[in-house]
Amino acid sequence: MILPHLAQLTPYQAGKPLEELARELGVTDAIKLASNENPLGPSPRALAAIQENLATLHRYPDSHVYYLKEDLSRHLGISPEQLLMGNGSDEVLDLLIRTLVPPGGEVLSTTHTFLMYGLLTQAVGGVFREAPLKEMRVDLPALAQAVTPQTRLILLNNPNNPTGTVFYRQEWEEFLAALPPTVTVVLDEAYIEFADDPQVPSGLDYLREDRPLVGLRTFSKAYGLAGLRIGYGYGPSELWEYVNRLRLPFNVNRLAQVAARAALTDGDFLKRTRELVFSGRDFICRELRDRGISFVPTQANFILIHVDRPGREVYDAMLRHGVIIRAMDAYGFPDYIRVNVGLPEENRRFLDTLQMVLERRG
Ligand SMILES: *Cc1c(COP(=O)(O)O)cnc(C)c1O
Repeated sequence: MILPHLAQLTPYQAGKPLEELARELGVTDAIKLASNENPLGPSPRALAAIQENLATLHRYPDSHVYYLKEDLSRHLGISPEQLLMGNGSDEVLDLLIRTLVPPGGEVLSTTHTFLMYGLLTQAVGGVFREAPLKEMRVDLPALAQAVTPQTRLILLNNPNNPTGTVFYRQEWEEFLAALPPTVTVVLDEAYIEFADDPQVPSGLDYLREDRPLVGLRTFSKAYGLAGLRIGYGYGPSELWEYVNRLRLPFNVNRLAQVAARAALTDGDFLKRTRELVFSGRDFICRELRDRGISFVPTQANFILIHVDRPGREVYDAMLRHGVIIRAMDAYGFPDYIRVNVGLPEENRRFLDTLQMVLERRG
């Protein structure tokens, strides 16, 4: 018999793949700005490493991901034991929830955030509670106030997907100080490479063996490796000893391991990626302002845009013109869309298509 609580789950809806649009609508020159992927493609160094390692695919990967952890530990200034590698950072989050949340245990997060948080909590029979955002920003004092004796985990995303807003160092420090030691905080930093405001905290600066804080990072966005599936958590080594009991032995494949090592050395690619995102987001925001379309100021590689009508309609219309974006109804924003920064010509095509779609039913 299927577990009854699974009937309450809504499956995660990913951004529409280009291949699917081609299959369903026959649109072949489409662009995808829906999943916050890197418009430059994968890091060239990562691609070269993948090619060099193809002939070893008959071998299982290193279950402990030894060399990448060594590299990462030097890169981040922490020890390899403070790292746990996953098949995307999503997997690390799933493992943390399965390690820390008993049936009926509470997970606290915010409204309008990454939908995987609620989904993974419900999957283990946990109770997902959300503190409202305040002016589109995470309200850390409200979140601290919402903690109860049942709260096991707090899930936060900075910059937050899908608003692109951030919280700052001082409010973060006050928040950490207000929490009881029984609550583990997970700080998901999937977009941290795109935050250029110096007041945005890095979870790495708050790492202590005796503090229940975990940071999540990914190679999917700034490093351009979303299709390979690799991300990681950093946090207390003792916690990872328990998480490792649940982790499947070969969760990070061989090519992901070598590609991530190579991508870490590719400072030029990261620099080009950040420059492209910074200039692209400035360009899109300036154009939106000029066209009288309102949006939420962002520190991420995507922009949440208000559209005065159901975002789902805008999404469908843009899809027919070969521009894949994201409708935000599932995130609690029925009259918003989200778009990620693409190549300059993709950004222009997005803006022109959006304007055309909005004017046609003005
Ligand atoms: C994209 C994203 C991730 C990264 O997920 P991976 O599994 O590493 O690809 C994590 N958290 C948020 C909020 C994201 O938007």
